[in-house]
Amino acid sequence: MTVIRVGHLYPDYLNIYADRGNIAVLARRAAWRDHELEVTELGMGDAVVPGEHDLYYVGGGQDREQLLVAEDLVRNSDALHEAVRGGAAALAVCGGYQLLGRGYRGFHGEDMPGIGLLPLETVAGDRRLIGDVLLECELEAGETRTLAGFENHAGRTHLDAGAAPLGRVLAGFGNDGESGLEGCRAGRVVGTYLHGPLLPRNAWLADWLLEQALAHRLGSDEAPRLEPLPDSLEHRAHEVSAARARSRGGKFD
Ligand code: GLN
Repeated sequence: MTVIRVGHLYPDYLNIYADRGNIAVLARRAAWRDHELEVTELGMGDAVVPGEHDLYYVGGGQDREQLLVAEDLVRNSDALHEAVRGGAAALAVCGGYQLLGRGYRGFHGEDMPGIGLLPLETVAGDRRLIGDVLLECELEAGETRTLAGFENHAGRTHLDAGAAPLGRVLAGFGNDGESGLEGCRAGRVVGTYLHGPLLPRNAWLADWLLEQALAHRLGSDEAPRLEPLPDSLEHRAHEVSAARARSRGGKFD
């Protein structure tokens, strides 16, 4: 039994579309493998201590909430960079994803600083990108998976040249509605616009994150593989969501 320590950043501010549900999935899937998820809420004014957490999680929020947390997150920037250099993993969703980049210019022109953990920048456009999304991802060489979810953002995110997306858009808008790319992945850090029941619909990503967190916990470069679970309900949830994204007909169909 290993205790996997999760640092949940700003749960009181960045928690729309039930982002908290992602934590519940991580906890359950860890428990089914006899591991324990220990979740610490890191709110406004709290200090991130590198090495204390194996996985950081930051959810989505409206521009208003993002403005409230941006400066506080920057205060923790050095600590988060050090934690990630030390092998900690991270999942950032939507508003949280934007703030892990270098910055976000909101809908009303507000410039919010980011922490530059991911090589990207975001500027809000005048039309929101809303709907079901389906991606094709290859986080491990030779293992292609689909990721299904829902997006709702004004931000257009532009990855730096050479930066790796989380996946390619099969249906939906993705980072900017144009590039055909969604999210960003840098080592064990993943950012995405896919919201809400992201991990319930995509159990494989929950397991991948747990494996990265375990690698940090065990101090190994190579992530251990968790034994598979039956997951028939999870696969059905994924299929329903994937079919909805396919039939909705995204720009990149
Ligand atoms: N406020 C950001 C945007 O509209 C993020 C929204 C969100 O987290 N859903 O782009």
